[in-house]
Amino acid sequence: MSTVAAYAAPAAKAPLERTTIERRPVGEFDVLIEIKYAGICHSDIHQVREGWGESIFPMVPGHEIAGVVAEVGPGVTRYAVGDRVGIGCFVDSCRECEYCRQGLEQYCVNGSTSTYNGLDKNGEPTYGGYSTHIVADEKYVLRIPDGIALDVAAPLLCAGITTYSPLRHWNAGPGKKVAILGMGGLGHMGVKIAHALGAEVSVLSQSLRKKDDGLRLGADHYYATSDPKTFEELAGTFDLIISTVSEPLEFDAYLSLLSVRAGYQQRRPLPVRHRHRHALRE
Ligand SMILES: [Zn+2]
Ligand SMILES: [Zn+2]
Repeated sequence: MSTVAAYAAPAAKAPLERTTIERRPVGEFDVLIEIKYAGICHSDIHQVREGWGESIFPMVPGHEIAGVVAEVGPGVTRYAVGDRVGIGCFVDSCRECEYCRQGLEQYCVNGSTSTYNGLDKNGEPTYGGYSTHIVADEKYVLRIPDGIALDVAAPLLCAGITTYSPLRHWNAGPGKKVAILGMGGLGHMGVKIAHALGAEVSVLSQSLRKKDDGLRLGADHYYATSDPKTFEELAGTFDLIISTVSEPLEFDAYLSLLSVRAGYQQRRPLPVRHRHRHALRE
């Protein structure tokens, strides 16, 4: 056990206070990370305020953690002292269910262990990234490439993966028209990542208030959803729409902006194959 400094909420809705917490000893497959940065995610605020149900207090939030490995257990093979690493929303899972076996631990049917506001396998509460150090199994630690500074890497561990995952899953890239709905913490991340993947990116935002930011971050187009003409103009346009809006939406209106083309583009172009067959026969 080691005592480390942290910021903790002592009770629901209470402000964070400086305190100390105990981190477990570095086990066989554990790494000790010296935390350099932790992002602030809105779900940190939800959980401190018990917006999602009963929480565990004191609570040390933070699940966008970036830092440097300070110590490794004897069984650790993936990381060495000095490596730049991160931790996201969970620090363990059952490791046995079909999803864990496929590397999709976020869908663990037995419940993955949250980075904070959770209980580990010994029933001890987990504490997050608003602290100086964390101990975690190497399997739940991610490597941060040298090209990304640790301060900007931290928000990628939650906001980044939340938007990258659907963009990647639905093949956002060159030739794809992607709409990002909302220009907040998640939305601006979606714009940057979709742009970096090579897609043609449109922001659909309530107003044009953040248009300059959107274009600066990589959007090609920016539309106000408060303007009914937007829905007429963009009917049948997009291959993919990523919604980052937490308010209830009129989904029908947005579904009408999707193109039916998207599903067909996934298939092989038949005429080309026919041509090949003819060519072979001839
Ligand atoms: Zn988050
Ligand atoms: Zn599992």
